[in-house]
Parts: sequence; C-alpha cells; structure tokens
Amino acid sequence: MRSRYTAFARQNVDYILKTQTTLPEKASRLELERDLSTIKWLRLEVISYTSVSQTQAQVEFCAYAMDSSGSHKQLVRHHEISLFCLAEKGWLYESGKIQADSGELKWQRNAPCVCGSGRKFKRCCA
Ligand SMILES: [Zn+2]
Repeated sequence: MRSRYTAFARQNVDYILKTQTTLPEKASRLELERDLSTIKWLRLEVISYTSVSQTQAQVEFCAYAMDSSGSHKQLVRHHEISLFCLAEKGWLYESGKIQADSGELKWQRNAPCVCGSGRKFKRCCA
C-alpha cells in the first residue's frame, strides 16, 4: 500500500501496473502517465487496515495532492476504500471505491501545510 503510494508520487508506472490485478480494468498506461504528470502527491494517511480473509485485505486511506490538470491548481483529497489480494508475488491492488468526500479541499493559507512539513501552507505546497 505505502509502496504503491510512493510509486504514484514518483510516477513509477511500471510498479503501479505490476502491483495490481488485471481486474477490473487495468488503467491504460498512457492514461495513467497523463494523470500522474499533473498531480503532485503530498501526503498519505492510512485510516484502517482490515483483514477480510487469508488472501484479502481492505485498506481505507486518504491521499492529498495538488492537482494542476485544470485551469487552476487545486488541493484535492482522494479518500478510497480499496481491496488488496495476496498473490505469489505479494499484495496486489484489486479494486477501489472512491468515497464521497473526495475532491477539492479548502485549506487555510496560514494553516500548517497538509504535507506535514510544519511550515505554513502558502509557503510550502500551495
Ligand atoms: Zn507542504
């Protein structure tokens, strides 16, 4: 899970594709590269990890990012509950449900930055 987040942050498309099952639809490589090129991931919060069975686990997480794909840069939250399954080569991402509170996030410019640096947002990742 964390290693996949790191791969998203570093735009390591090979790793992302290698650590997910083929089902449901595997995001096409080009689509993934395009999405990653406009997003800067700032922080990952794992909310819960639940073992569903010997070979399945559910992970709820929030990831925060700056998205510059639109006309203006915006801070976004990605809240997802995803299912991982254990294969021979380790845990693979199987599917995910994006939660309703995902999307643009308002952050006070003078508040501590979302990335956890301790600096003000406006002087850090804004
Ligand atoms: Zn920051």
